[in-house]
This record gives sequence, C-alpha cells and structure tokens, in this order.
Amino acid sequence: MNNTIRKPIIAGNWKMNNTIKDSETLINNLIPLTKNKNCDIIICVPFTSLERAINLTKDTDIKIGAQNCHFENSGAFTGEISPTMLAEMGVEYVIIGHSERRQYFAETDTIVNKKIKSAISNNLKTILCVGESLEEREKNITEKVVFKQLELSLSNIEEKCLNNIIIAYEPIWAIGTGKTATSTQANDVCKFIRSTILKLYSKESADKMIIQYGGSMNSTNASELISEKDIDGGLIGGASLKVSDFSIIINAASTPM
Ligand code: PEP
Repeated sequence: MNNTIRKPIIAGNWKMNNTIKDSETLINNLIPLTKNKNCDIIICVPFTSLERAINLTKDTDIKIGAQNCHFENSGAFTGEISPTMLAEMGVEYVIIGHSERRQYFAETDTIVNKKIKSAISNNLKTILCVGESLEEREKNITEKVVFKQLELSLSNIEEKCLNNIIIAYEPIWAIGTGKTATSTQANDVCKFIRSTILKLYSKESADKMIIQYGGSMNSTNASELISEKDIDGGLIGGASLKVSDFSIIINAASTPM
C-alpha cells in the first residue's frame, strides 16, 4: 500500500453466513478491536443482518455493506433487493460482481455495469470485483480478462463517480481455496488495474483508486500482501468470520501513517 496517497480499506465478506444472533456476537466482539485504526473497515453482511449491523455499529469505526443488489430500484423481480432499499436502511457499501455471483447467478459485465450505475445513483459505494479463472491464468490472459471486465463494468461511468468505487482484484482460483496469489502475482495485477484506470480515465484517478486484493487472505499472509505498493487492503471472506483473524488483518493494514 502507498498510504501517503491512499488509505487502506479492509472489507469482510461474510457471504451466506451468520444468523442475526451470530452477527450480533461477531460485531460486538469486533467493535473494540477496530477503534482508531489507520484503515477503513467495512463488513458486508447478509441482507437479514443488515439492520442489526447498522444499529450496532452506529458511532463506531465499522461501516456496513451488502453483498449484492439488483440494478432496478423497484419492480417485478421476486426475491431481489434494490439499491434504493439498501440506501434507505443506511447501508453504505455494496459488493458488485463477486465471482460467486458471476459463477452461480450468471452475472455478466453488462449486468455488473448496470448495478454499479444504479448503486451510485442511490449514493451507495461500490466494491467492484474482478479476477481471472485458473484456466485464464494458465493461458496467460489474466490482463486481457481483467481489462475487459473493467472496461465493460465501468462503461459510461463518469470519472467523478470513481470516488465511490473500490476495485477488488480477486483471482477466482484463490477464493475460498486456501490458495493465495503470491504477493508479487497479486501486486502485478493490482498495478495493471491501476494502469487500466489511467488508460480509461486519468493519472489522478489511477493514483487515488483503492485496489484491494482478495483470495484466501488470512492472518498469516495479510501483512506481506498489504505491504505491496499497489495493494490497498483486502476483501476477506473466510477469515472475516473469525474476530481474532480479522483483527490481525486490520492491524496489518493499519501501520502508522
Ligand atoms: C471473498 O469472498 O471475496 C474471498 C476473498 O473469500 P476468501 O477470503 O474466503 O477466499
């Protein structure tokens, strides 16, 4: 991370885990461990825990995010939740384009683009996930894949909106597998993402863009990954469910500025 230009962000993605009661316990244990850190801390909880999470974290250093939203504000989309609904609750962030959404729910870059636009127009901040499959990495087309994801996902999104977008580089082969990208592999792609933002927008936006790494980040490897120049924190799945592990990752990102 380069904390002279960018403040790192540690975000937990709880996925489909934790009942409201479990969420309450985890958040109450986390609050004292997140005070006065030199990084921003977000937890993206299931829809059912959002209200409780927002209430519990009022006046704390934890911000709350959702893990998905629809691109329409309302309508006949049974089972979906709209960005308007999230914003009304006081949700601040939403993950968009997570590889599990792309893989299991057929989310395309075009859908991701619509969701980002809709989230932004509802004043939600977006964590946009991009990343290649193992097959794509082995074919040496990681940069091509990530470029296309960014180009399509950010299509017709004005530069001023980038202030409300975080990019998470999440190689699919590293998510939930215990296989982490090496810090060099992760930094290389994060650096490439920054150069893509420069190409699509400007140097100023590229320098300011928060680019996280995600994929089996844990209490042991976080420090090395986050110390890389172009990695500005992490999007953490499994390890965000354990208070002690998540707290170690937060501390790794919270070196004195
Ligand atoms: C994620 O869900 O975004 C993720 C990175 O998961 P994990 O840390 O478990 O690999």
